Amino acid sequence: MAGRAARLVLLAGAAALASGSQGDREPVYRDCVLRCEERNCSGGALRHFRSRQPIYMSLAGWTCHDDCKYECMWVTVDMYLQDGHRVPQFHGKWPFSRFLFFQEPASALASFLNGLASLMMLCRYRTSVPASSPMYHTCVAFAWVSLNAWFWSTVFHTRDTDLTEKMDYFCASTVILHSVYLCCVRTVGLQYPAVARAFRAFLLLLLTTHVSYLSLVHFDYGYNLAANVAFGLVNVVWWLTWCLRNHRRLPHVRKCVVVVLLLQGLSLLELLDFPPFFWVLDAHAIWHISTIPVHILFFSFLEDDSLYLLKESEAKFKLA
Ligand SMILES: [Zn+2]
Repeated sequence: MAGRAARLVLLAGAAALASGSQGDREPVYRDCVLRCEERNCSGGALRHFRSRQPIYMSLAGWTCHDDCKYECMWVTVDMYLQDGHRVPQFHGKWPFSRFLFFQEPASALASFLNGLASLMMLCRYRTSVPASSPMYHTCVAFAWVSLNAWFWSTVFHTRDTDLTEKMDYFCASTVILHSVYLCCVRTVGLQYPAVARAFRAFLLLLLTTHVSYLSLVHFDYGYNLAANVAFGLVNVVWWLTWCLRNHRRLPHVRKCVVVVLLLQGLSLLELLDFPPFFWVLDAHAIWHISTIPVHILFFSFLEDDSLYLLKESEAKFKLA
């Protein structure tokens, strides 16, 4: 999830430039948008635009104004390339080739596949692990929280609006905090359930405060970045410490080590910021594609660990 943090650094940078990115500050772009809107986005021309617009585009909320910005973005990019300049960003983003109503097709597809992987692993977990396993409900809840986050990530990359952006960020923070809770239950909560309950209440309060501040007071990219990095660090340090203490006794814990290290390593991908290959594949999309096998491995660890905990609790029960 630190990858998201890196993306936020870029967004924070973009937000700091009050007037946007290089591309949308370009007079050619601004002129083009203004003229396109005058020509197409009012009166009879607007009615004509709406009658020509495919139904899936209007359902996805693409307006005449959005279409003008999209067309003028490519006019500006062509001009930059012809003059031998570097590809500029627009409104904090690289130019992406739209596919149907998908604004960032590769990231949207990769988010969908991450969600599909989470759903498949949830189904597998529920068939192979009995509900009496001590971590069963916490793990199933984690899978639902992940599924929800991937749903919003797919929506956000399909159509970037204020609301979908917030939902993507908030749901991603929820996954990190739920992973911290999962770690707390595994390391402390099984022996001291009251501690896990108190910690859950604390995390819920933390999440509520975080989301309320960002949505009701001020959507501050810098603060959001700092908060997510802090949540992520607690998550990584807590899981790794537990893994290092237990990996000799429990071989399946190595899967968890690989997941934590891979997530940290892959998040470096996000620091590479380059114009998308074929106007589709950028560093963020590659990061989303790369996390698909990591989810499968993490759920595989949760499955092994839950079955181990079940065996252990049954053995204790027999002894008692
Ligand atoms: Zn994303």
